[in-house]
Amino acid sequence: MADFDPFARQIFSGNDYVNIDSGNAIDVINPASLEPVGRIADCDAATLDKAIQQARAAQREWGGLDAKSRAAALHDVAHSIASADPAPVCELMTREVGKPYPESTGELANVAPAFHYFAEIARDDAGRIAGPIQSTTFQYERYDPYGVSVHITPYNYPLLILTMSVAASLAAGNAVIVKPSEISSLCTLAFMRHFKNLPPGLVTCVTGGGAVGAHLVESDDTNVVAFTGSVETGIKVNIACAAKMKPCVIEAGGNDPLIVSDSIDLDFATAATTCAAFHLSGQICTSAERIFVVDGIHDEFVAKLSASAKTLRVGDGFGKHEIGPLATEAARDKAARMVDAAITAGAKAECGGRIPPDHSTGWYYEPTVLSGVTPDMAIMQDEIFGPVASVCRVADVDEGIARANQSRYGLGASILTTNMDEAMRAVEKIDSGMVNVNNPLVDSDALHFGGRKFSGIGSLFGRAGLNSFRQIKMVTIDPKPIMHDWWYPYPDDWFHPGSN
Ligand code: NAD
Repeated sequence: MADFDPFARQIFSGNDYVNIDSGNAIDVINPASLEPVGRIADCDAATLDKAIQQARAAQREWGGLDAKSRAAALHDVAHSIASADPAPVCELMTREVGKPYPESTGELANVAPAFHYFAEIARDDAGRIAGPIQSTTFQYERYDPYGVSVHITPYNYPLLILTMSVAASLAAGNAVIVKPSEISSLCTLAFMRHFKNLPPGLVTCVTGGGAVGAHLVESDDTNVVAFTGSVETGIKVNIACAAKMKPCVIEAGGNDPLIVSDSIDLDFATAATTCAAFHLSGQICTSAERIFVVDGIHDEFVAKLSASAKTLRVGDGFGKHEIGPLATEAARDKAARMVDAAITAGAKAECGGRIPPDHSTGWYYEPTVLSGVTPDMAIMQDEIFGPVASVCRVADVDEGIARANQSRYGLGASILTTNMDEAMRAVEKIDSGMVNVNNPLVDSDALHFGGRKFSGIGSLFGRAGLNSFRQIKMVTIDPKPIMHDWWYPYPDDWFHPGSN
């Protein structure tokens, strides 16, 4: 197997790193230093079609393999991931995405367990038997793979998001083709070596821009799509899939609410909110962006949150810093624009609200706490995807719940409370795919992950996530052939009384 070279425009194909000399290249830039990290190929249609045909060929055998052998192969992938030195992949992730190194290693640590999980649940559950509608008949549902699945990933969690759908799809018996974000392709490619012992062609990683993703989605020879990214791109992918009657899971953006009750300890609430809003510089799909704080504690909470945000160290992901740069100049400019618009509309920057003066190189933005934010402001309507906590005063938790639902998004939501009744009201009434009580940002590979409303369609993780990559067939078997009484010819007394 060839070594992975970040500057060689490689893809992972046929269980090897292959240089792509045709077509255009895309430069990958470190968002902290603006230095080059590598170059990726913008794959052309011929390269993509070859990958699809290789995947189809590999899937025919993989899909027919017994469940125990398939599980064993996926456990081997997990062992390879868990036993490898994380540094080569994580250093690339920190360099190309700007992610603080502890967050790169933290992400990778969650990957192997998900492969183990899907290896076993796919083996445990291959269908369902129903009580038959006739006593002589055996009826059941069996789950079949779709064929070739396409996995389009964003930059913020390149390996974990890939795993959420790839582990499930392989376990279900599909071949997979991964198209990572242009921003996080290098760490994704470096990670691909863990698949090298699976049948060649079963797992492919191609690189390039949106057109590469679109080509894979629109191909007549791919069968199911897992897309994670922005709402705008998710809608395009959903429409393209609809035109081909192709199933898809769409995991899109959010503008998650976090409600702070007056029952909660304020030091706890400050620490939890600081992490929920600023982890990964706010570039988590479930980052807390809209903070609804009950009136009686509002002023003290805002003072504590802004003091806490000021303690966060801003800088390169390889140093002792909690806050790295945003991944792109466009992302940094969008956050700055939205904060400026909120301030113009009457909000107040309690801290931050600017590019850090000592970080003029790189796409940094200071952790920002805005107070005086009102629900009509654009910052409460759109995803910011930056280190900005917008605080909105509410009379009580019920107003917080009502305001939380005033959004086109419905990904995650959090409430900080020790009042059981408030917690249960939030769980029941907030219209989102996930609700976290006193523990923001946490999810589980064994449970549903996905959004409602514009935040997405379908599930990843858990049993529902496995079923996103397998199709159901209803089977009826009569072991002994029996002539049934409803077969032709109909008896005379079944016909309409007026018939002759
Ligand atoms: P993006 O929509 O810009 O890109 C996502 C992927 O789609 C990239 O690989 C891109 O190349 C590809 N793409 C672009 N145009 C395409 C097209 N026409 N057809 C097919 N593929 C196309 O998203 P991003 O900026 O990389 O990621 C940030 C977004 O992802 C945020 O909105 C965030 O909330 C969301 N996100 C959601 C989840 C979730 O689970 N719901 C998780 C992580 C990130």
